[in-house]
Amino acid sequence: MRRRCEICHKLIPAARLEVLPETKRCVDCARRKGSDVVVKRVSTGMDIETYKDLLGATRS
Ligand SMILES: [Zn+2]
Repeated sequence: MRRRCEICHKLIPAARLEVLPETKRCVDCARRKGSDVVVKRVSTGMDIETYKDLLGATRS
């Protein structure tokens, strides 16, 4: 699955789409403008800050 960021139109990394399939923004734009996705508590029990770190770490 390929999707482009709605702001900068760069391809969103596949790894990010795996964890956030509904996102329309790349990591940089999500950080700059705020994520378009409401981060819910994930089923693994990670807290939200850990989850955000993980999302940031998926950039390549
Ligand atoms: Zn972007």
